[in-house]
Amino acid sequence: MTDNALHDPDPAPHAIPPSSGPAGEDTTDFGYRAVPKEEKKPLVRAVFDSVASRYDVMNDLMSLGIHRVWKRIFNAELAPQPGLKLLDLAGGTGDVTFGWLAGGGGPALMTDINEKMLAVGRDRAIARGYITDLDFCVVDAEQIPLPDRSVDRVTISFGLRNCTDKMAVIREARRVLKPGGRFLCLEFSRVQVAALAPVYDAWSFKVLPTMGSLIAKDRESYQYLAESIRMFPDQETLADMFREAGLSHVRYQSLSGGIAAIHSGWRL
Ligand code: SAM
Repeated sequence: MTDNALHDPDPAPHAIPPSSGPAGEDTTDFGYRAVPKEEKKPLVRAVFDSVASRYDVMNDLMSLGIHRVWKRIFNAELAPQPGLKLLDLAGGTGDVTFGWLAGGGGPALMTDINEKMLAVGRDRAIARGYITDLDFCVVDAEQIPLPDRSVDRVTISFGLRNCTDKMAVIREARRVLKPGGRFLCLEFSRVQVAALAPVYDAWSFKVLPTMGSLIAKDRESYQYLAESIRMFPDQETLADMFREAGLSHVRYQSLSGGIAAIHSGWRL
């Protein structure tokens, strides 16, 4: 993978390089690069193939452990219940699924498009003793192989940003939800506290790629992370996308000054 911003000694950290161009009808964003739509999945796959074995330790280091707090808030919002069935999309190494099961939730299907991430998740599940009420499946969140109206809760945590067709994911989540079911998304979002922006930009574009390079021996994947966050829809835009997909009672909660946000919508 190559990256324009890598070659700029001191890029304006939050500016999107004009050379990347806007994503057109046949292209989509991969970080700041516009790439043909069919190329994004292999590129994202390469990122997570590369980081899978160090994903959890890097998550703790990069977020200074704050992702754990966000996921606890997310799980509290999810409010696990024994009779309910969860579909966790882009579940990666399992944090959301494990939160659900630990909270007393019903049967969970943990899915991800990437076998390596899911394999790390399966090992972690076994280590935690989650054997019953848990299934794993390789699933592209844009084309969920489940019948209409078959699950009670759908979650996606830090996954939507990596999908090519985000509207397709939200529509699919709604389709598989039973009436009365709920879709919850945890994702990076738009910082709303001006004083936080310069520190956050420096952290994202200087510290993260350097950490990626030193610890995971992979600078580019962490540069992609920083860029993909800036390309992701802001709180209001994502809420509008939820409504457009037919979800009801859509609302969101910003976390840590807008660094992340939880979006929620119901299928009525
Ligand atoms: N949910 C986990 C968490 O919160 O720690 C993992 C998040 S990780 C940043 C993003 C995950 O999205 C990766 O495991 C990646 O393989 C997955 N992913 C990317 N595109 C996907 C797609 N189209 N369908 C399903 N999963 C996808």
